[in-house]
Amino acid sequence: MLTRSALIYLSRKEGLKEFAARFSLFKKLTTRFIAGETIAEAVAAIREVNTHKCSASFDHLNESVSSASETEAEVTEYLNVLERIDQTGINSNVSIKLTQFGLEIDPELAYRNARRVVEDAARRGNFVRIDMEGSNVTQATIDIFKRLRAEFGLNDVGIVLQSYLRRTFDDAQELLKIPARIRICKGAYNEPPEVAFPDKKDVDENYIRVMKLLLSSGTFHGIATHDPNMINATIRYARDEGIAKEAFEFQMLYGIRRDLQEQLARDGWGMRVYVPYGKHWYPYFMRRLAERPANIWFVLKNLWK
Ligand SMILES: Cc1cc2nc3c(=O)[nH]c(=O)nc-3n(C[C@H](O)[C@H](O)[C@H](O)COP(=O)(O)OP(=O)(O)OC[C@H]3O[C@@H](n4cnc5c(N)ncnc54)[C@H](O)[C@@H]3O)c2cc1C
Repeated sequence: MLTRSALIYLSRKEGLKEFAARFSLFKKLTTRFIAGETIAEAVAAIREVNTHKCSASFDHLNESVSSASETEAEVTEYLNVLERIDQTGINSNVSIKLTQFGLEIDPELAYRNARRVVEDAARRGNFVRIDMEGSNVTQATIDIFKRLRAEFGLNDVGIVLQSYLRRTFDDAQELLKIPARIRICKGAYNEPPEVAFPDKKDVDENYIRVMKLLLSSGTFHGIATHDPNMINATIRYARDEGIAKEAFEFQMLYGIRRDLQEQLARDGWGMRVYVPYGKHWYPYFMRRLAERPANIWFVLKNLWK
């Protein structure tokens, strides 16, 4: 059986991506988690998500971009997305990754690129979420976020923290002082035990600790998880503390636990669905398999059908 870390390792193997992408059937199976390759397909998926009273966040899949010209194409893509959101009237914001904007080439380039997207979103009254990536770029991501947050408003740009990181509770406390809008998630990368809790129990405990800190802060945050234990703990805490349903939102990934997404939205909780699209679907798809290796059987079963 493939383990989580083996799948995450494979997610970084570009050669395997080329190989897998040749199989149209394999590509078809990715549609469970990926909205398509074009903005038009993502818009169609978001319209459908919106019909279930869920808002959305566009995620153009691409990470660890290694040329400045490629980062320029990413900025153009996001400016087009923001324009399409206005034109179509769909309920969506955008999520970006700083390595997509050149963080591993030059942090200043990533800052300038992200700034152009945040500036356009702010002008349109929209919002940019900066995703969190591997621990090698955690500090650089927080630093760029802080610079942007100093220039733009609370409702223009937000960040993500991962409960598997040992540093996260302190980061949350620091960022709340600004204040900042935070998405808390468990974390999706392979991290060494010095920086991340190796045991799920500790990751979950830290998640609940940070969730409580966020909910009590008076700022609007995103509680991103498919884990019923985390969701129930959040609902219980909100009820016990008299925190309004409108004071925060749940967030889930496209195609994962749709039943739960729709149920929570029907119950009146805010629900945002993160909608990934684009040609570079491979690492994202492999990380989703890694989270739940049972999904491999779903893939294999369908390949043989
Ligand atoms: C909106 C959103 C944004 C995110 N942004 C980031 C980010 O910026 N940086 C980052 O590192 N990570 C991000 N993640 C991923 C996150 O860190 C986790 O890897 C992912 O959400 C799985 O954790 P979980 O909280 O769902 O709990 P888990 O303990 O992994 O899973 C709990 C339950 O959820 C269901 N489930 C979880 N994953 C799957 C799956 N792939 N297929 C089917 N069922 C599944 C299963 O029922 C499982 O038992 C994001 C997740 C969400 C929902």
